[in-house]
Amino acid sequence: AEARARYAAARPRSAAIHARARAVMPGGNTRTVLFYTPFPTAMARGEGCRLWDVDGHEYLDLCGEYTAGLFGHSDPRILAAVREALERGINLAAVGENEGRLAALIVGRFPSVELVRFTNSGTEANIMALAAARAFTGRQTVMVMRGGYHGGVLTFPVGGSSAVSLPVPLLFADYNDAEGAAAAIRQAGEELAAVLVEPMLGSGGCIPARPEFLPALRAATRETGALLVFDEVMTSRHGPGGLQQRTGVIPDLTTLGKYIAGGMSFGAFGGRAEVMAVFDGHRPGALPHAGTFNNNVLSMAAGCVAMGEIFGAAEAEALFARGEALRERLNAACARAGTAMHFTGAGSMMAVHFRRGPVTRPYAETPAEAGLRELFFLDMLEAGIYLARRGMTALSLPVTEADCDRYVAAVEEFVAARRPLLPDA
Ligand code: PLP
Repeated sequence: AEARARYAAARPRSAAIHARARAVMPGGNTRTVLFYTPFPTAMARGEGCRLWDVDGHEYLDLCGEYTAGLFGHSDPRILAAVREALERGINLAAVGENEGRLAALIVGRFPSVELVRFTNSGTEANIMALAAARAFTGRQTVMVMRGGYHGGVLTFPVGGSSAVSLPVPLLFADYNDAEGAAAAIRQAGEELAAVLVEPMLGSGGCIPARPEFLPALRAATRETGALLVFDEVMTSRHGPGGLQQRTGVIPDLTTLGKYIAGGMSFGAFGGRAEVMAVFDGHRPGALPHAGTFNNNVLSMAAGCVAMGEIFGAAEAEALFARGEALRERLNAACARAGTAMHFTGAGSMMAVHFRRGPVTRPYAETPAEAGLRELFFLDMLEAGIYLARRGMTALSLPVTEADCDRYVAAVEEFVAARRPLLPDA
C-alpha cells in the first residue's frame, strides 16, 4: 500500500490521463497488459532504450514493448526507412516491391518457412495458420496448451476463461507434459488438424520447453498427420532461425510478429510450401486471406531494413548470449539472498517467479505472489526501470552491459530491502 501510494503521488499527469480515458474506454484501457491499478504510467517519449513518462521520470526500458521493441525507440535506420516510405505515399492499394523482399528475408531465415504471408498482428497470424492447417488437413480440432497465449482471441488462461470462445473444437494439453500431450494427439487421431504451441511460453511466464516436449509433439503429429504450428511471435528473436533452429525441432507452420517490422505493426505466418499453397490464387478454390493493412508500406519498408540490415545472425546470437548472462546474474543475486524468487526464460526474454523452481508450466498465482509481483514492478519503477507489469523483461538491442549492471543492482537492492516478504529458498 505504501509503495502504491508513493507511485500515485509521483504521477499526477498519468492519473489525469487515466481519469479522462476512463470516461470513454472501459477501465480507461485498450490493451489488457497495460492495465493495472491505481492507474498505468503514461509515457511521453522514448529514445534508444530510454523512456520518459508524462510526469518527467526517466526509465531504462526493459519492457521492450513485450518483445516488439527489439530495435529500441529511435534506430536511425528504421526511422529513415519509415520516413522514406511515408514520402512515397500512404496506402497505395497495390502490391509493392518491399513485401517480396521482406518475404525473401524471412524465408531465408526460418528453417520451416518455405512460403510466407503477412498480417497486421501475431493474433491474426495464428488465426490464419490455424485456417491453413484446417483447410490442408480437412480436419477441425486444434490442440492448444493450458496457459498458452497466442493473441487476444487466442488466450487460454490457466485459471480462467477466454474472452472469446472460438468456433473451433479445442483439445487442451499441459505445457511440458510430453507423454500426456503425445497420447492425446494419438487418441484424437484423424480428428486433429493442428497443435499450436509456443516453443517457449512467453506470456505464460517465460517457461522453456523441456528437451523432450517439442520432439514428442513433432513425433506424434507426424504419425497422425496433424500439423505442428510453432508460435514464434516472441521467440523468433532467439536465434538467426528462431527458437526452432536452436531446438532442432522444425514445425510445419510458424507464426511471427512483434519486432520483425522494426516495431511497426506486424504479423506473418508461413511454412511448408504444400500447406501454404492453400492460399495460392492461381489455384481454383484457393482460401481467401485479405486484410487492408497486410502489406502496409510502413511495416514492409521498416521490416526490410530491420531484418536485412540490422538484426542479422550475429546480432541474434549476441542478444541471446547477453540475456543468458543477465538471467544467470539475477538468479545468483536471488540465491545469495537465500530466496526462492527467481527468473526463468531463455536469451533476451525472462520472467520473475516468487516460488521455488523448477517452474515447468504456467500456474495461477497465489494472492501473496500477486502482491510481490506488484511490489517488484513498483520498486523497479522507483529505481528507474520500466518492466512489463507482470515482471517480464525483454532486452532490446540498445541495452548495454552497463544497463544490465544497473538492473542487477536494482534487483539486489529489492531482495535485500524486501527479504522478509520473499519466500525462502
Ligand atoms: N503469440 C504470442 C506468443 C504472443 O506473445 C503474442 C503477443 O504478445 C501474440 C501471439 C499476439 O500478437 P499481437 O499482439 O501482435 O496480436
